[in-house]
Amino acid sequence: KIIKSKHKLQNEILNIKNISFIPTMGGLHKGHISLIKKSQNFKGKTLVSIFVNPKQFNNKNDFLKYPRNLKKDLIILRRLNVDYIYLPNFKDIYSFRVKNKIFLDKFSKKLCGKSRKGHFKGVLNIVNRFLHLIKPKYILLGVKDFQQSYLITKHILKRKINTKVINCKTIREKNGVAYSTRNKNLTNNQFKVASKVIKYLKNNKKLVRKDLTNFKPTRIKKDLKNFGVTKIDYIELYNSKSLKRPKNKKEIFRIFIAFYLNKTRLIDNI
Ligand code: AMP
Repeated sequence: KIIKSKHKLQNEILNIKNISFIPTMGGLHKGHISLIKKSQNFKGKTLVSIFVNPKQFNNKNDFLKYPRNLKKDLIILRRLNVDYIYLPNFKDIYSFRVKNKIFLDKFSKKLCGKSRKGHFKGVLNIVNRFLHLIKPKYILLGVKDFQQSYLITKHILKRKINTKVINCKTIREKNGVAYSTRNKNLTNNQFKVASKVIKYLKNNKKLVRKDLTNFKPTRIKKDLKNFGVTKIDYIELYNSKSLKRPKNKKEIFRIFIAFYLNKTRLIDNI
């Protein structure tokens, strides 16, 4: 069922207590599909939203250039037998009050929070609204957007919202690049550069596991620029649980990166 207004949505799902919810911005790919398939392992109904949320874009041009393909998305969702598709417009989703205030954990100031001012406030605003309307049992989120998933989880816990976050692993192309809607804006050559970046970081992670001092951001930035990377917003190491800098190589950590290939900004964590 395709639903375009919050009133219809609320009527439709009024008595459904076990909804698994997957928020997306459309331009669906295998990453999204893996979240949807995972949700279908749970009892209950699956609800996918598609909305390119202007409030989470800090750059108007980036918002305008964000790849959209609703027709193809609907074919994919139909094929997957998704129960509900919610396609709000701006007015529908932003013209009501939500009782829960947004909670922005301090980790929102790191990584993408530094290079994309207001981004996470925009993300939490829309997710808070979706949670208010849908009251899902589960929300499925990709670890590809690790910081986003972490901050949504913190918000849900702080506001005591009765929804469980299911984190889903990153699905990658054969060449290592994570599926992303933004990949559609890459040239073939840029896509190859992205692959080199990921392979380099996977290799670097192996070295860092042996000795933390093998993580040398200045050196890495130089090497990645030599591959053809235009700009690097950040390349940082964090313990995946404590989100502190790892002090011991036995800790579980991730390398976080945001980089540009010409005007396309990609993020990943390895
Ligand atoms: P987006 O449409 O980019 O806002 O993404 C919607 C959801 O899909 C988010 O929870 C993302 O983390 C998740 N996602 C995006 N790309 C991938 C991927 N390659 N693998 C797994 N999940 C992903």
